[in-house]
Amino acid sequence: MMTLTGADRVVIVGAGLAGWRTCEELRRHGFAGGLTLIGDEAYPPYDRPPLSKQVMSGKWPLDHTTLATPEKLEKNQVDLRVGVAATHLDVTSTAVTLSDDSIVAGTHVVIATGARARRLVWHETYLNEVRSRDDATRLISRLEQLSPGDVVAIIGAGFIGAEVATAVSARGLRPIILEAAERPLINVLGEIVSKWLEHLPGDVGIELRTAQKIVAVTDHRYDNGDANVVFDDGSLLHARAVVVGVGAQPNVEWLADSGLEVSNGVVVDRNQLCAARVAAVGDVASFPWTNGEHVRIEHWQVATDHAGALARHWMTGEDSPTLIPYFWSDQYGQKIQMLGHPRPSDDVVRVKDTGENLWLALYVRDGIVSGLIALGQPRALMLSKPLLVRPTTLEDALASAPWAPPASA
Ligand SMILES: Cc1cc2nc3c(=O)[nH]c(=O)nc-3n(C[C@H](O)[C@H](O)[C@H](O)COP(=O)(O)OP(=O)(O)OC[C@H]3O[C@@H](n4cnc5c(N)ncnc54)[C@H](O)[C@@H]3O)c2cc1C
Repeated sequence: MMTLTGADRVVIVGAGLAGWRTCEELRRHGFAGGLTLIGDEAYPPYDRPPLSKQVMSGKWPLDHTTLATPEKLEKNQVDLRVGVAATHLDVTSTAVTLSDDSIVAGTHVVIATGARARRLVWHETYLNEVRSRDDATRLISRLEQLSPGDVVAIIGAGFIGAEVATAVSARGLRPIILEAAERPLINVLGEIVSKWLEHLPGDVGIELRTAQKIVAVTDHRYDNGDANVVFDDGSLLHARAVVVGVGAQPNVEWLADSGLEVSNGVVVDRNQLCAARVAAVGDVASFPWTNGEHVRIEHWQVATDHAGALARHWMTGEDSPTLIPYFWSDQYGQKIQMLGHPRPSDDVVRVKDTGENLWLALYVRDGIVSGLIALGQPRALMLSKPLLVRPTTLEDALASAPWAPPASA
């Protein structure tokens, strides 16, 4: 493979975390050519995790989330074009057509268009989602109109729903979480771990209602932003605001006639490539995981790791090592962290337990450690990461117990 030279221009579509990190990583690896970063939002790249945490609870102003400050844009020599969407990619000529009909041609293209919030079938403007700065601004301005104790219905007890509920509660409002499954996160973390976590909302006085069958959300009795959540038995929950957190879907529609393989995201190889001079990174990329399986993972660290791996590959020609996915979530006053990509059906063994909200557990599939999950145990989790670097049996993991180093370590 030909490595990048100073005569090349890399066009990056999607000015989010993965797009911005790609610019930074290419420069860090010595790329001296052109960088064009195209984003359809009105802002320079910013960080999303604080939107549902520090920003939603009122601790941070939105500007604190900015990643690409003017100084960093200058330092990294990035030609940033915001407020314009890519509508077509010509893979052969590596040219990108934009919504203003202009064409940006590069020698290489990076697809970093991320994901958007999944919507309910009865989506209406009075329903809120938390994916973008504009979403956060809109929801916060609504929350600021409410009075202490007002009900905010949150549909979905996943990571975003739990974080928004925590932030809404910190504002003195009354979040009520409505979850379709019998327990939060059961379809992500599995039966056992979801049981271990189910008491968290109640511990901080947040109401969680599970096995909820919602048939509609309507504002037909109101013209003040209020809405009713309607259940299958005909009962209603009157809410002053409704937030929907039911997952995300990749932004791939603009690639429909590109000829690229798109299957729950842009399918890439271990170096993030989907064509000779075209790559995809971050939430939009479906990348190879163990056993030839492809996965698309919507986590901050994965987007960062993809960008680093691609930059290194394009600058040095070296193949990328298998990345170990990592995520965290701050909810109900606790920090959940996970390494690896276990399946909900994997076995779980709790290996360190120093209190109700202080534990570390291993996921195990076919006798091999497939993931690590921790509540309030960041150090033990990171010490145990080597268990995922190469296949490790449960027996060997228990014998080496990296989560409990000798006192002198
Ligand atoms: C509220 C929130 C909280 C989160 N909290 C956590 C957390 O605690 N821990 C964690 O691990 N992860 C968290 N995440 C996930 C993390 O933020 C994402 O994994 C990360 O943002 C992915 O970056 P990305 O650049 O791939 O995609 P995005 O951040 O989605 O960026 C993609 C950008 O491309 C733009 N775009 C889309 N289509 C086009 C087009 N055709 N032309 C031009 N631009 C386009 C989009 O508008 C967007 O600006 C959170 C996400 C959200 C929304």
